[in-house]
Amino acid sequence: MTRSLTIALTKGRILKETLPLFAEAGIEPLEDIFTSRRLLFDTTVDGVKLVILRGSDVPTYVRHGAADVGVVGKDILLEFGAEGLYEPLDLAIAKCRLMTAGFATARTAGPRLRVASKFVNIARQHYAAQGIQADIIKLYGAMELAPLMNLADEIVDIVDTGNTLTANGMVPLGHIADISSRLVVNKAAMRTRHRSIEKLIYDLSQAVERRDQPS
Ligand code: AMP
Repeated sequence: MTRSLTIALTKGRILKETLPLFAEAGIEPLEDIFTSRRLLFDTTVDGVKLVILRGSDVPTYVRHGAADVGVVGKDILLEFGAEGLYEPLDLAIAKCRLMTAGFATARTAGPRLRVASKFVNIARQHYAAQGIQADIIKLYGAMELAPLMNLADEIVDIVDTGNTLTANGMVPLGHIADISSRLVVNKAAMRTRHRSIEKLIYDLSQAVERRDQPS
């Protein structure tokens, strides 16, 4: 009997790009994930299940072995660390950049820069590496609002088209990292479920490569 393989997917924007890639690798949920209230789905591959989580919970499920494999943004791995995880494949989806941003004309009022972000560890490391004294303010959403409301001088946030920044009168200032979604694997599962995980990595890497080919 094959033991089931549980794959934790990040909901939202990443999920919309993950499902077509998984379909190209031959794995499709048996139910419409976007209309169902369920969080755990059987798939067209016997024994392969999908669980839908918040991005920041994916490494936790995979690290503890509650899921064997996960799909998560590199931003989450940089912010929360990737201990206990292998990161064997860049899925090249949900590509964006982690950037500092603010008003084009600097508005620093005090001796220390005030920086709002949900990526507090990344922000702290980034400004420290630049030798800039910064107070990092943790927010959970709508980072762009912080400079507008004079809560912060700059933000550290994900930028895709840049439209959100422009709409709020801000500009990207500094590039921190290029981001895309990654496949992560529980270290113990990599040994105990080697065959099924190797097959998954192979099938997904082939799907990623096919997308790279000029049509
Ligand atoms: P944009 O206006 O296209 O620059 O998109 C910026 C906003 O969309 C940011 O505030 C992010 O929260 C979100 N976003 C864009 N791309 C991604 C991504 N690949 N993963 C997660 N969030 C994203």
